[in-house]
Amino acid sequence: MPLAPVTRERPIVLHVDDDVSSLLMAEGTLEDAGFEVIHAENGLEAIEQFEKTSPDLVIMDAVMPEMDGFESIQIIRQSARGRHIPILMITGLDDLDSITRAYEEGATDFLTKPVNFHILPHRVRYLLRSKSTADELRSSQERLDNAQRIARLGNWELDLRTGMFTLSAVARRLIGLEHLDVDTKFEHLIGRVNSSDRYEVESANSQAVESKGSCSVEFRTAPDVDNEVLNLRMESETVLDEDGQCTHMLGTIQDITERTNAQKQIHNLAYYDIVTGLPNRAFLNEKLNYNLAVSSRDRSKFALLFLDLDHFKQVNDTLGHDAGDLLLGEASARLQDAVRDHDSIAMMSKESSAHTVARLGGDEFVVLLSEIRREEDAARIAKRISELISKPYKINDVEVSVTTTIGISLYPNDGDDAETLMKHADIAMYHAKEQGRNGYQFYSREIHDQAIARFSLEKELKTAIENGDLHLLYQPKIHLQSGRLTGVEALVRWQHAELGLVSPADFIPLAEETGLIVPLGRWVLIEACKQMQEWIRRGMGEFSIAINCSTVQFVRSDMQELIRDAISISGLDPGMLELELTESLLLKDIEEGIEILNNLKSMGVQVSIDDFGTGFSSLSYLKRLPVDKLKIDQSFVKDLVHDKGDEAIVSAIITLSHKLDLTVVAEGVETLEQADMLREFNCNEAQGYLVSYPLSPAEFEQWLANRELDIHRKAS
Ligand code: C2E
Ligand code: CA
Ligand code: CA
Repeated sequence: MPLAPVTRERPIVLHVDDDVSSLLMAEGTLEDAGFEVIHAENGLEAIEQFEKTSPDLVIMDAVMPEMDGFESIQIIRQSARGRHIPILMITGLDDLDSITRAYEEGATDFLTKPVNFHILPHRVRYLLRSKSTADELRSSQERLDNAQRIARLGNWELDLRTGMFTLSAVARRLIGLEHLDVDTKFEHLIGRVNSSDRYEVESANSQAVESKGSCSVEFRTAPDVDNEVLNLRMESETVLDEDGQCTHMLGTIQDITERTNAQKQIHNLAYYDIVTGLPNRAFLNEKLNYNLAVSSRDRSKFALLFLDLDHFKQVNDTLGHDAGDLLLGEASARLQDAVRDHDSIAMMSKESSAHTVARLGGDEFVVLLSEIRREEDAARIAKRISELISKPYKINDVEVSVTTTIGISLYPNDGDDAETLMKHADIAMYHAKEQGRNGYQFYSREIHDQAIARFSLEKELKTAIENGDLHLLYQPKIHLQSGRLTGVEALVRWQHAELGLVSPADFIPLAEETGLIVPLGRWVLIEACKQMQEWIRRGMGEFSIAINCSTVQFVRSDMQELIRDAISISGLDPGMLELELTESLLLKDIEEGIEILNNLKSMGVQVSIDDFGTGFSSLSYLKRLPVDKLKIDQSFVKDLVHDKGDEAIVSAIITLSHKLDLTVVAEGVETLEQADMLREFNCNEAQGYLVSYPLSPAEFEQWLANRELDIHRKAS
């Protein structure tokens, strides 16, 4: 955009007149006053000179041959350079028509003949000065227009007395009123506001007028021809006259579409989960607090359902994360269906029927039932959720099944703040899982107490591991025919300060669930290996040491590395070490089971299957598994003498094991009859109270010494 030209040191005046004497007289005074003068003798010549010299001002006679002054002005005004140039017209003294015409064609001012040449330079100087003021004004207007265009900000003005409404070009464009450039009314602007925002905009403005203040309002435009909708922000202010009456409103309109979109995006990222599109934890928290406020005001009830998908991890591990995400998406949709259920909505009042299904992360979801009348309402929806979730899924053409376990807490019974309600629903879910998955459970005081007891036990077990409050007992195993000691099994004990001796049957499952089994298992293995190495050092004979390994240990830690550590720390020959594994580990995935066993065996470690017969393994699996030993579970041994069925099972296990070259150990042998029968069946080894209770190292050493004494006595 051209700015005002730098004023010349000697401004150029183009003087047009067919009266040469006039030209000459004017030239003298003008040049003396510091102007450079150029002459033309008619309108046509004037145009030529104008183009050539680009003067700062034109003095134009009206009546001339060839082309008169009026026509010449008209042409000059049409050119870009001539649009704003001051033109002084010379007309006859009493020729009013000419004066009017001169202005119409674009003259800036006029002088009548005869011209007073003394005042001419003053007139010229005055015109040039007002021209430069006008130039400055124009360029500052241009700058303002540019700034508005760049900022996408327009302004408007409303004369409240006349209703005259003016808009800047940008304002006009933003609001979509470009086509309407004359006689625009404030109503036109209102008409372009999106109908849903219109009331707000109108009332904000009329309130501003009423209070003689200002207002600021954001709104969307009505869709334009291209269906585009802008987000605009309008600020307006009232202008008062001396009497304090509102006469005008001044306002701005700014395009905030980009900012609004960015804010929306930020909002979505902050409040929604990307995988499922469900509200996330932050959203839930806000909704929950809102519900708390509403329900405490209305004395109404609501329910919080905390749920996760049972065995979701398995789907993720076997089919991959993408499949896992698909499953989560599908499960989310079913959750939403479950709460959208007709009769569940029918029981809600209209206002609060907005239930929320949120994803907390992983496979954890929360359903907030905004208003319920009775516990049963929540139970009914929980049941419906269970049913819907457990229907089979088709993920990448693979049929998958998952179930869900749900914990429920109720407001106000189970807590009156968000954190407590969430915690209690979580505790209830935990309890439901313990009772077997795929069900729901309401929170209750008893559950809470159990959970607290568990949590504190968990904490104590952790310190017990750290403080060395655990110790090992060793239970001997003997060869059934010779009575010779073949090995000992390490069994962990926890001496609790208040509870006394805690059974591993109680704390091993807890350790497995919490992951504490990893440090616990590590301690047991190293401790047992050191003890065994100590016995070997003292020449106490040839027997092996057996250690129980939990399935969870294999999943959560690198067992091979752990065994290598234990062997190098203790210096024990790995051939003396025996690991007792349960069937569940080996049968979860038979190929993986075989790989685990091969790895262990390649280290020289012996492997036995513990509690055999209690799992699901069929004997046919056994021949594929590279194991050395099999321990018949004590439940079969217990009734062996009186129960024909158990007798048949035990003898079959022994016969088959021998065909597979496996050594068979009977667990829980308590009586001589049992031992006799097992011996008859050719069972290799026995372990149980008949032989010995689990013993401390010192007791075991004593037991062994007495036994050797016995054997010597018998021999001699
Ligand atoms: P398990 O591996 O089947 O161990 C045998 C259990 O039977 C031991 O119980 C033992 O004291 C008991 N027992 C031995 N002889 C007899 C008998 O004649 N009659 C009867 N009724 N019981 C007998 P304990 O020590 O209470 O251990 C229970 C379970 O805890 C073990 O079952 C094992 O699965 C687990 N466990 C014990 N120590 C460890 C350990 O260090 N690590 C792991 N992962 N698990 C362990
Ligand atoms: Ca065992
Ligand atoms: Ca066992």
